[in-house]
Amino acid sequence: MLDEIAVFWSKNGLGEININNINPLEIVINNCFECCSVPPVDKKLCSFSAGLLEGIITGNTGIGGTIKETECQGSGHNHCMYKMIK
Ligand SMILES: [Zn+2]
Repeated sequence: MLDEIAVFWSKNGLGEININNINPLEIVINNCFECCSVPPVDKKLCSFSAGLLEGIITGNTGIGGTIKETECQGSGHNHCMYKMIK
């Protein structure tokens, strides 16, 4: 299932997904479409991606929780990282 999400993301030009860890779920996105063209503004910018990930994951797997972006290109990282919080 998580592989399908990665395919969906790259097919739609949303970025490249890497699953860092399954439990707790930790996802890294490179070339994130939401913030890859934005200079560092000291903010996390990708609430749309977080919501989309959360909807797909909680809707299609047995995993429940809230996806939160913890690192973002907008806050000076070179990728976006999302973690699931139960
Ligand atoms: Zn981001």
